[in-house]
Amino acid sequence: MDYELSDAHKLIRNTAKRIAREKVAPRAAELDESGVYPEDIFQVFAEAGLLGLTIPEQYGGSGAGFLALALAVEETAKYDNSCSLILLLSALSTQPINLSGSDEQKREWLPKSASGAIKGAFCLTEPNTGSDAAALESRATRDGDDYVINGEKVFISGGDVADFVCFFAKTGEDGASAISAFIVPTDSPGYSVPRCDRKMGVIGVPTANIVLQDCRVPAGLRIGEENRGFKTAMLTLNTCRPVVGARGLGLAEGAIAYALDFARERKTFGQPLVNHQAIQFMLADAAIAIEGSRHLVYHAATLVDEGKYDRQWAPYLSIAKTYATETANKVASDAIQIMGAQGYMKDHPLERHYRDARQLMIVEGTSQIQRLVIARAMIQGDINYW
Ligand SMILES: Cc1cc2nc3c(=O)[nH]c(=O)nc-3n(C[C@H](O)[C@H](O)[C@H](O)COP(=O)(O)OP(=O)(O)OC[C@H]3O[C@@H](n4cnc5c(N)ncnc54)[C@H](O)[C@@H]3O)c2cc1C
Repeated sequence: MDYELSDAHKLIRNTAKRIAREKVAPRAAELDESGVYPEDIFQVFAEAGLLGLTIPEQYGGSGAGFLALALAVEETAKYDNSCSLILLLSALSTQPINLSGSDEQKREWLPKSASGAIKGAFCLTEPNTGSDAAALESRATRDGDDYVINGEKVFISGGDVADFVCFFAKTGEDGASAISAFIVPTDSPGYSVPRCDRKMGVIGVPTANIVLQDCRVPAGLRIGEENRGFKTAMLTLNTCRPVVGARGLGLAEGAIAYALDFARERKTFGQPLVNHQAIQFMLADAAIAIEGSRHLVYHAATLVDEGKYDRQWAPYLSIAKTYATETANKVASDAIQIMGAQGYMKDHPLERHYRDARQLMIVEGTSQIQRLVIARAMIQGDINYW
């Protein structure tokens, strides 16, 4: 099913498929054990041009867009969700600059991000604020030509390997209209990474705790106008929602394909597993949910590529993220069930897929927060089924 993919989309998908099979798949189990960020795979992605898909051509990317990124992420996630997160971070860390940065900032930070010369992270979540991001407590205080930033961020994907972070801090009194966005180079005095977390899945990309203590950055590194950073954060997350969905879509495909291969060979009661109707129904349910996810994710990514990612379109981005990531969890669980005890063992990738899938319903807006966005759109009439 090609979903009106252009030749360029197909080329990118095929490139990602090849890299996923040849480079990512052989490393996946080891990354899950070691928790060491795979710099070599980041460079393979860089050389293939997969880190600049959402960066405009004039700033060193290919401008291929979010559907292209979703396709690359999907192929990668069939084998490993840490490496799919590396691809996603190429957009999450640059979108604040892409959406709201000055031409000078774009010229400085985007080409190096697209080429893989540098990598970034996205710093929104704090110890006291996750879903309620507008209540964040980090503060940036203007001091002459600089800002002095103090604050703590938690659970930052790739924060320990980043060369810069997009950091959100209060510059005004209170609430969403008091937040500004900053580019903070990670070699700035006062920037530190006290620890990385021990976590359940997606272990190949460490999740960092980041502290800024009297960290001084030039005012020229503020992204957009003062006190307009919250909108930048929300629009960044909106644009990336289909890509998180693609992580779920690819994971579900990889999990059920693996279980199906197993079920063709394994015999019980004198029959291959695939001959038992109970197994067939799990396979069919997986395909139904996967195809539903594919349509939602590709459509949502297409909306983003058409510039449709503001409040009016946000519910459709949320629907794609929610459905595809919840599908990943259900399908990963059923895939283990199909394999029985073997599915539970580390000799196979399914227990890793199952642990990795769980992250997807939490990151970049939990399933509950997505449902708030969707329900609000229904109640306010933005979604009207009459
Ligand atoms: C592996 C991993 C990587 C991450 N990477 C990043 C990153 O790179 N950058 C970054 O900034 N953050 C990152 N995060 C943080 C992530 O975005 C937050 O965990 C997420 O936004 C939820 O915030 P929270 O964990 O504080 O949960 P809370 O906001 O405390 O919510 C707890 C629970 O309550 C529910 N809930 C909260 N409010 C409501 C409500 N109004 N109605 C109904 N239910 C509600 C939530 O859905 C959730 O189930 C990462 C998290 C993980 C696990």
